[in-house]
Amino acid sequence: MHNAKDKRIKKLKRKRIWPSVIGLFVLLSIMCLLSIIIMGASIVDIMQRKVNQSLARTEKIASLYEDYNDSNAKDINENVEAYIKISDEIGAVALVDKEGNPIWISGGEYPTLDNLVDFDVTYGEEVLHLKLIIVEGENQIFKIDNNELVIDDNILNSIKINNLSENNIFSENDANVIMHLNQWFLVPVGDIQVLVFNDVNLYGYEIIMPIMIGGLIIVLMLIFAIYYLVSVISVFVNMRKMTRLIYTDVVTGGNNWLHFVKKGTSLLKKNRKGKFNYAVLHLQMRKYRSFCTCLGVRRGEELIESFYNVLKKKLGTKEVMAHHENAQFAILLKYTDKQQLLNRISEIEKELDAVLPNMKLYFGVGVYQVEVGEKDIEQLYNNALIACEMLSEEADNQIAFFDVEMNKRKMWERKVEDDMDKALQNKEFKVYLQPKISARGEKLAGAEALVRWIHPSEGFIPPNRFIPIFEQNGFILKLDDYMLEEIAAQQAQWISEGKEVVPISVNVSRAHFTREDLAEHICAIVDKYNVPHNVIELELTESAFFDDKKVLLNTVNKLRNVGFIVSMDDFGAGYSSLNSLKELKIDVLKIDADFFRGASEQERGMLIVSEVIDLAKKLNMKIVAEGIESREQVDFLVEQECDLIQGYFYAKPMPISDFVKKYGGSDE
Ligand code: C2E
Ligand code: CA
Ligand code: CA
Repeated sequence: MHNAKDKRIKKLKRKRIWPSVIGLFVLLSIMCLLSIIIMGASIVDIMQRKVNQSLARTEKIASLYEDYNDSNAKDINENVEAYIKISDEIGAVALVDKEGNPIWISGGEYPTLDNLVDFDVTYGEEVLHLKLIIVEGENQIFKIDNNELVIDDNILNSIKINNLSENNIFSENDANVIMHLNQWFLVPVGDIQVLVFNDVNLYGYEIIMPIMIGGLIIVLMLIFAIYYLVSVISVFVNMRKMTRLIYTDVVTGGNNWLHFVKKGTSLLKKNRKGKFNYAVLHLQMRKYRSFCTCLGVRRGEELIESFYNVLKKKLGTKEVMAHHENAQFAILLKYTDKQQLLNRISEIEKELDAVLPNMKLYFGVGVYQVEVGEKDIEQLYNNALIACEMLSEEADNQIAFFDVEMNKRKMWERKVEDDMDKALQNKEFKVYLQPKISARGEKLAGAEALVRWIHPSEGFIPPNRFIPIFEQNGFILKLDDYMLEEIAAQQAQWISEGKEVVPISVNVSRAHFTREDLAEHICAIVDKYNVPHNVIELELTESAFFDDKKVLLNTVNKLRNVGFIVSMDDFGAGYSSLNSLKELKIDVLKIDADFFRGASEQERGMLIVSEVIDLAKKLNMKIVAEGIESREQVDFLVEQECDLIQGYFYAKPMPISDFVKKYGGSDE
């Protein structure tokens, strides 16, 4: 798989939402805790302040008793009572002597024996000796134990004096009171002790602010959490959708190529020990494009969808397939032996053909048998594809297994591509010349430049081993330019040496006819050497005619207008050519060597050749016959008034130095 593509898919798969959800909850808990702490702290702070205030009040009351004696006792007590009245939080004040006997208690009455009760009580393991003062008017109770004041609910409950209950003793039973503290302070002043009972209440309204702030934080957090959760969920849902989309084929709605690569790789990885035999298949319907042209692309896509459904049903467990492109499918199948695999494929083809009952459909299948340990499914599929490409385009169900030969071919292709740029720089491409001899005088009348690659390690390489590869990868454009330049330079040199020159033709691959300024481009190369255009001939194959007619016609016209000789190469090979002759005005027609091959058809071939020569003469074209190997062929061509003859009969293509030795000695 492509590295970048691989990484992107992995990244997508790695995006889990759990970390963000857990993160959210951790954050929320921290924030809630924080707001609770804030609320608690501010409540504690308020209470603290209240306690401090009551302490201050106690000190104030104690200070009133500083000069206490029998004579001013009444006044001071009255002042204290007045102070108690205006101060809500002071519940009661009592004076006790050093021993703890009450002297006076707020409310104006001195304690009597009725109010003072001595009793012992067991508290845990101890027995406590207590004096208890009951303050009926104020409903307050306190007790003094060894100069320490103790208020204990349990004791109160256990003694149940005067049927007083806890509630009406201690709290004001106010619904607004949230927290209630009873505090006794004992302040020694001279010979007496002042006891101040503080009734500290925390009211609801006092903690509204901190609760509101804390609550607000919590509410905000909740809103944020909900928003975040919703967005996380939607991201998650979108991610699921996207992932599904990534692996879904637009035409069939089923698995696409990426799914095939992912699932196939994982199946092959799991088969590490070779439990199953696997085969990667490339299956394609023949003539799918023609089908679409006749019946429409929509029908074509429907057909593909039906194929997909048929194939899906044919799959077993631990197998996978996907629609690749056009009418092509990638399939990973398990098999037991080659025959069983072949049977299975034939059965699949039969069922695919049955999709359209009124039409015979043909398929090509390339098969790669996976070796244990191989898991780069894209590479393996490529092998299956190569195998399928080796099949002829004939409409017949065919199956091809990838073999070592194909692999060799592929390796060769790779080597050629690796070495080609360096070869051009190092001038490893050599020009060979093959003479064209005039049929009448049997003397040199032209030559064709043919390339040879003298490779540093491979040695001599003929063009059929690299030209088709260059035609596919575009390098042919550079090579043809190089050949043209070499020929222009060579002609320029010969002309400057005063030698007689004949037109030399170079091959112009059909790939050039995609550029509209081809004629200008050719002129620019040739004009660098200042050679007359009519010593250069350009051989085009008529197959270029099927690409972009307009560009071809324009280019040919332009080239002829500036004086180049233009010829049509391989005339009669492959497609019917008569129509192209109608529109294309060219100078030379090269009759393909095929007409002179094969003993049984020779007579018919000769007949056609004589007719073509006749036709070409009427259209004012020169005729070159290619691939002429025998005297008889030469005689026939002379008789038919063919102009030039090129072939092994006269000479094979040869290095320029040999060519000069053989033909080029004569000065003008
Ligand atoms: P082509 O342009 O048709 O070239 C003629 C081919 O026929 C040459 O093959 C030549 O050696 C061969 N030939 C000539 N006379 C005879 C004969 O009597 N008998 C037999 N059996 N063969 C004969 P070559 O040189 O191997 O080139 C093969 C093809 O490679 C060429 O076919 C041409 O299409 C391509 N090619 C060669 N050089 C170049 C180039 O520089 N540029 C481009 N674009 N194509 C080139
Ligand atoms: Ca040629
Ligand atoms: Ca040819």
